[in-house]
Amino acid sequence: MARTHKKKKKQLIQGGVLLIGLVIVVVAGIFIGYRSYQEKVHSQNAEVTALEEEANTLFSDTEKEDIKQGLTFSEIGVLRQKMKKQQIDKLLSENAARYYKVEEQIDQAESMLELRQKVSGLQEGEVVKDHVKDADIQNMRKAIHAFKEKKIFYHYEEERLNDLSEQIQQRENAVRTVGNLFEQGKVRGDVTLSHEKEAEDAVRKVSSNTVRADLEQSLEQVRKKIKSQHKFVALTFDDGPGAESSLRILNALEKYQAKATFFMLGNNAKRMPETARKIAEAGHEIANHSIDHPNLAHLSKANINQQMARSKEMIEKATGQCPTLFRPPYGNLNSAVKHSAEATGQQLALWSVDTLDWKSRNASSILNEVKKQTRPGAVILMHDIHSSTADALPSVLDYLMDQQYELVTVSELIAIQKADISQPFYGA
Ligand code: ZN
Repeated sequence: MARTHKKKKKQLIQGGVLLIGLVIVVVAGIFIGYRSYQEKVHSQNAEVTALEEEANTLFSDTEKEDIKQGLTFSEIGVLRQKMKKQQIDKLLSENAARYYKVEEQIDQAESMLELRQKVSGLQEGEVVKDHVKDADIQNMRKAIHAFKEKKIFYHYEEERLNDLSEQIQQRENAVRTVGNLFEQGKVRGDVTLSHEKEAEDAVRKVSSNTVRADLEQSLEQVRKKIKSQHKFVALTFDDGPGAESSLRILNALEKYQAKATFFMLGNNAKRMPETARKIAEAGHEIANHSIDHPNLAHLSKANINQQMARSKEMIEKATGQCPTLFRPPYGNLNSAVKHSAEATGQQLALWSVDTLDWKSRNASSILNEVKKQTRPGAVILMHDIHSSTADALPSVLDYLMDQQYELVTVSELIAIQKADISQPFYGA
């Protein structure tokens, strides 16, 4: 009896231990499961919060302000309709950019709204929904990434459009500036060289070849008209800069508001860079006359090239202006000189009136030569290294003004003369 009692008691204890063990296992299991569930919820929650933050950063504050402050939604609607009706390159430049910006903002605002709704769809209050799958979060991540790429695309498109707008503006500007030179289809009577130059600058900024060609044709008419109505002449000073005489010549030119062309020697420009720079800064044309005045026809090809290329660099270094014209010393040239001019990007420029100032060294005979030889389109040769030339210049300028000549640089004269190819330039 005692034995069976004892056995029963033992069984009971064993059963109890088993039960307790089972309970511990179950409780531990529930606890572990709960912990991992919580961890999963936490990590999903963190991911969704990160997504939400990321979605919020896609809109910069200024863009939000643009939509809020700049335009009402009905205005946006009206603009959108216009945008659809009109082709972008027919819009005025400012409007094109504005319409485009609005269109882009509407698209972005819509995409943003959709994204935000989707992100909040993953949540219930502050906590991630029970049934949210990792795939949902992955999809949202993809959507945000795609949206970011779209924004980059828009940014690129916007830049392209800004370029287009700028071109439209340049085009309008050029058309207007050239148009101002005409009156009822005819070139205006009071058009001057500076008007023509302004228009030419405006036309140069137009990148469309057809538009530019069209405007250039109109400018050609203007140039012909200017040429037929005005008398132009170019004063040129060779062999300088010279110290005192060049400065006196500069003063006289300034007094008469006249522009001239200085054919400098590379060595002199290097020796007197301050004078050289003063001449350039006064708005005169800087041109090239070799390094040290040799007779090029007696030099080898290599030496000719040296005299034309190296001097160009020396003169540019001293004046800050890159010469595009070259005058061979003594006017002597051969095929090697012509070849070298082409290779170094310089146009050969001679003269039509020799004042013989280097020979006479006399102010009144210089003036007499000018009076005797000068015709419209003349290129007058003088030397700014002689003080007698500086003495003569005021009377020369008085005479030319009196004869109603307009003084231009050699490059300007070339441009004017190009308007009529039947009259070649006094060049090489
Ligand atoms: Zn010379």
